Amino acid sequence: KKVADRYLKQEVLGQGTYGVVFKATDTKTEQTVAIKKIRLGKQREGVNITALREIKMLKELKHPHIILLIDAFPHKENLHLVFEFMETDLEAVIRDSNIFLSPADIKSYLLMTFKGLAYCHDKWVLHRDMKPNNLLIGVDGQLKLADFGLARIFGSPNRKFTHQVFARWYRAPELLFGAKQYGAAVDVWAVGCIFAELLLRRPFLQGNSDIDQLSKIFAAFGTPKADQWPDVTKLPDYVEYQFVAAPSLRSLFPAVSEDALDLLSKMFTYDPKARISIKQALEHRYFTSAPAPTDPAKLPKPV
Ligand code: ADP
Repeated sequence: KKVADRYLKQEVLGQGTYGVVFKATDTKTEQTVAIKKIRLGKQREGVNITALREIKMLKELKHPHIILLIDAFPHKENLHLVFEFMETDLEAVIRDSNIFLSPADIKSYLLMTFKGLAYCHDKWVLHRDMKPNNLLIGVDGQLKLADFGLARIFGSPNRKFTHQVFARWYRAPELLFGAKQYGAAVDVWAVGCIFAELLLRRPFLQGNSDIDQLSKIFAAFGTPKADQWPDVTKLPDYVEYQFVAAPSLRSLFPAVSEDALDLLSKMFTYDPKARISIKQALEHRYFTSAPAPTDPAKLPKPV
């Protein structure tokens, strides 16, 4: 009954982008784990070669704010990825109307997110699918980034799954314009959207198609001007949009501190080359000015 002679399967936790996730006990360590079953199907051969090499690299990502990949093995038609079990995620926190998030709480969640991302960017690993439900939260309040690199290994998440459309809301403008070569700046944009979502308590830019997503971005920040983003016209799917003037960022976030607003504006810089890096973002005065981030153990969480 054990999987791989080691894991005792328990209940299903949910349906993910790549397959079902279930709870299990690791009989070797008595630890509770989450096992992600990834259907290999027809792709099997190809996936086995490159994916297993990439997964080996993911196993080497060890950081307090990155979810630990404990084990990875093929079993029947599926690839099984074993992760440490996490209590909840940031999406559940944001959606819970019983939870009040203070500026210090928001800073704490962001600090942990940025630290995890900075560690990976330092190793030249991109996440590519940053969104609140990929930020898992443990019993101790520690936040950890999940699903690192899976987007690259297993291809663009299957659009068939309706929940996947949410990822669009975090997509950087260069991706929406069809950029084939992109970098760490796509994760920075996504984290900017998560920052905004923590402040607003709802997704910031909710496009219902890729085109609509760009319109939402332009409505918030204005259409990019040539001097702001010189290379935009070279992107494969670039089309000229009717000019939209940017409202002030302050009018979109009336209640936030000057420091938070300045950091947000730097994360939402159009030109990916000019966008703040995650390392620079961690050095921004937002993180050193008052209020100090809440101790993770004291962060509010869903009951
Ligand atoms: P998605 O692909 O939509 O991001 P996932 O595959 O990451 O979804 O997860 C599917 C479900 O499994 C979600 O409900 C998520 O909360 C749960 N889950 C994923 N990883 C873990 C984990 N490490 N611990 C506990 N629950 C998890």
